[in-house]
Amino acid sequence: MPSWVLVCPECKQDFAHTEIPTDPKRRPFDRFLGTEAKPEFPPGGLRIECANCRKTSLFHRYQLIYRR
Ligand SMILES: [Zn+2]
Repeated sequence: MPSWVLVCPECKQDFAHTEIPTDPKRRPFDRFLGTEAKPEFPPGGLRIECANCRKTSLFHRYQLIYRR
């Protein structure tokens, strides 16, 4: 399943932030970018625990990477 992934600054491994629904009708689409719409983040970023090393880091929306 395609997902938005983040790269952990501690262990440098990526982990899934959000899985993108395979049903196109449920998939948010960004008409401006012509890609899947990124999930919303608060303006100051979001503290998320890494799925690999369990360290919590601050992430910003622009750090999301689309992974098929
Ligand atoms: Zn990590």
